Amino acid sequence: MSKEILLELKNVRTWFQVEAGTLKAVNGVSLAIQRGETLGLVGESGCGKSTLGRTILRLYRPNGGEVLYKSKNIWNYSKSEVKRFRKEVQMIFQDPYASLDPLNVVHDVLEEGMRIHRLYPDKARREARILALLNMVGLNEDHEYRFPHEFSGGQRQRVGIARALSVEPELIVCDEPISALDVSIQAQVVNLLKDLQKKLGISYLFITHDLSMVKYISDRIAVMYLGGIVELAESRELFDRTLHPYTQALMSAIPIADPDVEQRRRRILLSGDVPSPVDLADGCAFCQRCRHAQERCRRERPALREVRPGHFAACHLAEEVSHDL
Ligand code: SF4
Repeated sequence: MSKEILLELKNVRTWFQVEAGTLKAVNGVSLAIQRGETLGLVGESGCGKSTLGRTILRLYRPNGGEVLYKSKNIWNYSKSEVKRFRKEVQMIFQDPYASLDPLNVVHDVLEEGMRIHRLYPDKARREARILALLNMVGLNEDHEYRFPHEFSGGQRQRVGIARALSVEPELIVCDEPISALDVSIQAQVVNLLKDLQKKLGISYLFITHDLSMVKYISDRIAVMYLGGIVELAESRELFDRTLHPYTQALMSAIPIADPDVEQRRRRILLSGDVPSPVDLADGCAFCQRCRHAQERCRRERPALREVRPGHFAACHLAEEVSHDL
């Protein structure tokens, strides 16, 4: 049975005019996020993934294409629909410290969204809800009247998660939510997000540059390069049978704990620099760094196509260059 699509992007383009020309931060992206799933969005910094997240959140208006939430274009919403969207689609930031008002205690942080969206108008029920939210993210009443600077990085991210949950969202865009945290804390936050998803059925778009971490939280993974999706598949399938040369290079850079395996395996080093996303040339965006590039790749931009069931790649030679890692 096919799952309900909560959010869908159809050929979305978010471009910016800069001095040097047109910066094509998001350049023709089509994606869908199903209810209750985690879609990982992976790519190097500057690939456009955060711009894509902000386009989904209605913070950037795309120049072309459509962003549909619950089957309706978010730019055709009435005022009340915008308000509902702002409640149902939340964000967790990379740096929770920067996103929390240093003058507000946690109680006020968690209460703000409820007030704006008129949730729990009864004071006693609102107080109970705040305590429940703290418990949900592994904090307790001792933390309720503390300021952000009194918390560790991991605890602050827990406050950020509780704030997102306070308005009962259906989709959370998590923009590099663990990259500012110690490695030991990263797994705790990822496990917390997974537990909350199981309990509450929330969908996540999990944006990160770390392919190894996204494997553990994502049902499906989309790999982004220079404004476009180059590969999309279920998490396990992507790791078992990588199709796109760029994903293969990212995979080969993930450290492996076993020193024997680490020594035997082949690293794929990317040659050349990431080209500028300003006035991109025709053809495959990965062409200049791809060891398989041919004349056709320079002429013709490859479309994202289904190469194996449910496994999409934007590469003319996906069938030939794919291999088991
Ligand atoms: Fe490499 Fe050509 Fe595939 Fe692009 S289309 S990734 S240049 S083989």
